[in-house]
Amino acid sequence: KKVIFSGAQPTGVLTLGNYLGAIQNWKSFEDTYNCLYSIVDLHSLTVRNNPKEFKNACLSLLAQYLACGLNPDKNTIFFQSHVPQHSELAWILNCNTYMGELNRMTQFKDKSAQHKDNINAGLFTYPALQAADILLYQTNLVPVGQDQKQHLELARDIAIRFNNNYGETFTIPEIYTPKMGAKIMSLQQPEQKMSKSDENPNGTILILDEEKRLTKKMKKAVTDNEGVIRYRDEQPGVKNLITIYSKLTELSVEEIENKYDGKGYGHLKVDLAEIVTDTFRPIQEAYANYMDDLSYLEKIYTEGALKAQDLAEDTMKKVRKNIGLV
Ligand code: ATP
Ligand code: MG
Repeated sequence: KKVIFSGAQPTGVLTLGNYLGAIQNWKSFEDTYNCLYSIVDLHSLTVRNNPKEFKNACLSLLAQYLACGLNPDKNTIFFQSHVPQHSELAWILNCNTYMGELNRMTQFKDKSAQHKDNINAGLFTYPALQAADILLYQTNLVPVGQDQKQHLELARDIAIRFNNNYGETFTIPEIYTPKMGAKIMSLQQPEQKMSKSDENPNGTILILDEEKRLTKKMKKAVTDNEGVIRYRDEQPGVKNLITIYSKLTELSVEEIENKYDGKGYGHLKVDLAEIVTDTFRPIQEAYANYMDDLSYLEKIYTEGALKAQDLAEDTMKKVRKNIGLV
């Protein structure tokens, strides 16, 4: 079976963007690929955390994965920090990645502008750790949102260079992004992607938002003065709402435009809030049950770590040998 690797950071509750851009697709691969889905906790150390809250966020994200329908019998679900090979390979790849390459990364530019008081070395070398995450499992395909495309291209470049310098070591991974929904935009700034760690809560819909809160956010979503419900770049706010609508109902863009022909934005927003609420209701119920059973969560992440460690160690043996470590 071909291998899939992907992950999300425990920087907060998953957003509608994470759900439509990534998690929803992960599930669709579980029968045809050998899938590894990680909670990439080491990546989140690039921002400051309160340790107690961070630990909760990590366990919560595992429960969110399961609640979104990832089946632990079919997928390997684990914490990145439980597989020390990630850090080991990250160092080796750091030594095979150029400053110039990392300097070009837009995520570093964005995040260092957001956290001016904490521009740490980890934030800069984040893509080398991400490359290690992927290459460690001889990954064939990486399902992610649009924003991760640049990092994925760098991971491929690093792998190709490494193979050329030290002999065939890594599989070169391909990127997978969904045709629609690969970049869900902030409800408040529709020219910017929706992000878990956005400090404006009105910009993001979280999978655990309760109905009232969710509806309120949706009603406040920024639109425009055009007054027509059309899917086009001139109306980024409306375009984003139609994208979400289409992904969750499987109605085409055209069908949605026809349905709301002559109707106002308020109408679209209220309907969409209901659709999103209906999608998240079963997820929220399942989530509550998982969070009530910490020993089950422990069983899942312990088994996941053992499976991942085995695969990771196979690759690390090859890496150590090929670079000449005794
Ligand atoms: P943070 O703000 O902490 O970086 P995030 O919302 O970007 O959080 P990540 O954990 O970095 O979430 O990413 C998890 C997955 O979700 C990745 O595959 C990423 O590409 C995808 N993703 C993130 N934001 C969006 C979005 N707005 N639309 C579609 N996919 C997204
Ligand atoms: Mg992100």
